Amino acid sequence: MHDAAFAAAGIDARYELLELEPEAVEEAVAEARGPGWLGLGVTAPYKRVVAGLCDEVEPDATTIGAVNNVVRTADGRLVGFNTDAPGFRAGVELAMGRPLAGTEVVVAGAGGAAHAVVFACLDAGARRVTIGNRTGSSAAELAARFAGVGDGSIAAMALDDLAFAAALRTADLAVNATTVGMLSPGATIAVGLLPAGATVFDLVYVPPETPLLQAATARGLRAENGSEMLIQQAAIAFERWTGVGGMADVMRTAVAPLLADAGGRA
Ligand code: NAP
Repeated sequence: MHDAAFAAAGIDARYELLELEPEAVEEAVAEARGPGWLGLGVTAPYKRVVAGLCDEVEPDATTIGAVNNVVRTADGRLVGFNTDAPGFRAGVELAMGRPLAGTEVVVAGAGGAAHAVVFACLDAGARRVTIGNRTGSSAAELAARFAGVGDGSIAAMALDDLAFAAALRTADLAVNATTVGMLSPGATIAVGLLPAGATVFDLVYVPPETPLLQAATARGLRAENGSEMLIQQAAIAFERWTGVGGMADVMRTAVAPLLADAGGRA
């Protein structure tokens, strides 16, 4: 995705994968202060560690508790930011065909991705966010963390709580932010409870059609996987590194065969 965007923008740069052991992370981040670097992308399990190695972390990333991208400023300072939240917002608003503002949202999960999802919903003006997680205490911690974000209300519970099922009955949007559908079978959301106008958004993109999305499509609901979130967050990071926006279409075209191939192997 990024190399296709560099080529399309005529920028002589490349995106490299650094597979790092924990003890090598600090040195790798320090190296990115050098003039040859535009920035870094960061993935699990280093999204918290890298935040501590940046010279500055933007407020949204601090609130979410994760840095997934770093930009090098002209004077060699490293600024950490988070693109999962705005990438989710852009992807889900495309899927819903409406803004998140004023919506009722139900989120399954309380891990790293759920932090970005819940923050994005509240920050965008969702009316109510209900979080259900296998481990109920993690959902409660997540809700407490974001209690001051936006004007909407927030509720947390275990995934199998009856109140979670009740929230689905009036939801505009139901999000799977767990690894279920990718690493374990089944689905986190009872699609049959959702109203006819609801949208189902699964952050999982390998396989491209999870059991949750299959059930939502069979019910005639709007249903999208996480590939657009992946693309949108990458385009946001690219713009921060290069100043060149509008690369989502180039990135979508570049990543499509890779996602299809990964889906075929899943
Ligand atoms: P994570 O921090 O490891 O969190 C995993 C979450 O899944 C936790 O809430 C965990 O519940 C739950 N879970 C795991 N197995 C479960 C099961 N059998 N039943 C019910 N819940 C289960 O992972 P993450 O980084 O948040 O990622 C979550 C998913 O989002 C992954 O599939 C990832 O690929 C996807 N993602 C997509 C994008 C995108 O751009 N589309 C971006 C980020 C992440 P417990 O707390 O109870 O363990």
